[in-house]
Amino acid sequence: MRVVMKFGGGAVANGEKIKTVANLIKRFKEEGGTEERKEIVVVTSALSTVTDTLLENANRVATEGKVENAKEFVEELRKKHELAASEAIDNVHVLKEVKSEVKERLAEMEKALTGICFLGELTSRSLDYIGSFGERLAAPILAGTMQSIGIDAVHLTGGDAGIITNEDYGNAQLIWGVEREIKERITPLLGDKIPVVSGFTGQTKKGTITTLGRGGSDYTATIIGTAIDADEIWLWKETEGIMSADPKMIKNARKIPYISYMEAMELSYFGASVLHPRAIEPVMKKKIPIRVKNLFNPEDAGTLIGEEPEKTKKAAKAITLIQNTSIINIAGTGVRSISDVAARIFSVLAAGNVDIIMISQGSSERTISIVIDSSQLERAIGALQSINSGGTVIRDYTSNSNVCAMGVVGAGMAGTPGVAGKVFSALGKKGISVIMISQGSSEFNISFVVKKEDAHKAAQAIHDVFEMGT
Ligand code: ASP
Ligand code: MG
Repeated sequence: MRVVMKFGGGAVANGEKIKTVANLIKRFKEEGGTEERKEIVVVTSALSTVTDTLLENANRVATEGKVENAKEFVEELRKKHELAASEAIDNVHVLKEVKSEVKERLAEMEKALTGICFLGELTSRSLDYIGSFGERLAAPILAGTMQSIGIDAVHLTGGDAGIITNEDYGNAQLIWGVEREIKERITPLLGDKIPVVSGFTGQTKKGTITTLGRGGSDYTATIIGTAIDADEIWLWKETEGIMSADPKMIKNARKIPYISYMEAMELSYFGASVLHPRAIEPVMKKKIPIRVKNLFNPEDAGTLIGEEPEKTKKAAKAITLIQNTSIINIAGTGVRSISDVAARIFSVLAAGNVDIIMISQGSSERTISIVIDSSQLERAIGALQSINSGGTVIRDYTSNSNVCAMGVVGAGMAGTPGVAGKVFSALGKKGISVIMISQGSSEFNISFVVKKEDAHKAAQAIHDVFEMGT
């Protein structure tokens, strides 16, 4: 059996947890004796919160320009990673080697941070370089931990593993056709050895480090799994699997045992932080199953993500919501041709790097509403104002940040009449007014916007009416 196993930041948060992960891999490798050949690739995230602090400190150092801040931060990271290594690795020789590796990598990082400090400038390329260190420090520690319990582990960066990308820093895309390269680099290592790959990271053809977007280690795992024709890809998380709703909000939220690629994609695009939004793409052609597995209950099957859109009797499987959203209504009596205005709106927003979550346009052609992340509101309004110079095209904008975007997801909604009715009458019965509605024509997702204070009640009402909890 050939499996790619990915461990998220929470799973490798400290030395003790890293040890648990190494033991879990060893148990899996050895169970079944010598009869079954197990080929395993491990993908690791950064220790939890490390990526955040890397990006924050890169920005801070660039704006404040204080070299001592850079040094202090590097020292903090060194302590954190050395402590984790010391807790996780029992073999003194291995520990010594890993510590010196950590030190070497951090020396590289300190040089880069100092440079950023003096220049007072942070390009997206340097930000990727700095951001990559979390995973590049985690992989040697996890590999060392595995070595110290008798597994022949080797660590690789994304670039070493053949993850060659374009130069779209911060959200780099795999270059077409590199799967062969990945396969050629990884397969010779399989069997007796276990490669431990730094997730999230890649490199350009010229060798410059890139990252695959936040949460990108999932994506690393599915890219590698597809390239080497894995039997399954297991994403280990500190949750039961993909849930019908956020269990912190909905008490009777339940693990979804099976979900299709399309549904999982809808969920990840729509705020459920279970998967990197692009993680499903690579596996679709080869139909490689993905499993979201629970670290706290490794025997459990978790959630299986596969090709077939299993239609249960339940039309909708999950309710998800995006907090911190804003709605912008663009209205205009001067809106002559809606297509012309829409083209202008979306091109200025794209140029301003505004990510659009939902779009809706009434057929009166008088208003277009869009939903975006609140952190991008100022940028979006600025961009929109740039098309209003003549004053004739768009009459006015209003925005409202006191809203929450929600999505109901399920393959069973496609072609089933009455689902939208059920959604909105459930909300109506609770006295919740709906501000905006949109449904993709895949019919796998009905999205709507409610007031922030209604979000919890709305989620519960939908969860109840579709019996998602049973
Ligand atoms: N460490 C990266 C992040 O926090 C990638 C990942 O965790 O998957 O975004
Ligand atoms: Mg993470």
